Amino acid sequence: MNETALREAIVRYGQSLFERGLTFGSSGNISARVDSGWLMTPTNVALDRLDPARLAKLDDSGKLLSGDAPTKESFLHIAMYRERTSAQAVVHLHSTHSVAVSCLADVDADDVLPPVTAYYVMRVGSLPLVPYYPPGDLDLAEAVRKLAGRHHAVLLANHGPVVAGTSLDAAVQAIEELEETAKLFLLLRHEKTRWLTPEQAAEVRRRFPVR
Ligand SMILES: [Zn+2]
Repeated sequence: MNETALREAIVRYGQSLFERGLTFGSSGNISARVDSGWLMTPTNVALDRLDPARLAKLDDSGKLLSGDAPTKESFLHIAMYRERTSAQAVVHLHSTHSVAVSCLADVDADDVLPPVTAYYVMRVGSLPLVPYYPPGDLDLAEAVRKLAGRHHAVLLANHGPVVAGTSLDAAVQAIEELEETAKLFLLLRHEKTRWLTPEQAAEVRRRFPVR
């Protein structure tokens, strides 16, 4: 996808995520890899108000080359890209059900959600919880970096998910799957449930390896 098409796709996805209530206010941010750098959504702009020409363009050291100043959470995206050479896009949302799960006590911090459906296993796979840090704390980037080599999706405690994909479509689909799975988990967690068994989840992973 050329840069013009990528800019338009980021704007379209931003609007779609916003209109469906997956992000609100000026929260949430989207980035995509371009030649020797990244496009990122700007700071303090609602995702339904993006202008393709004003997306921040950063070089691979994180310096702003053109457009408006990038999201203050750009360091989360860069931490993902640095550890995942296959990542072509990163999406971060404060989507309600995922944030709710990120606030639960007594979850398994190595893998927060159970294998509720095969699609969750295919698109997300596993989801480690990143410990809480205050907004803007660069230790958060280091904590994400430590997990990003092994996980394309992580959940920031009391904050929200960060998901990388091998394309912008893949990153958006994975974070949407994560949000819907978080919702299902919250609906079901006090019910008698039958999640996929470890064998069933392993079989899905074998057939559809998560990248
Ligand atoms: Zn955030």
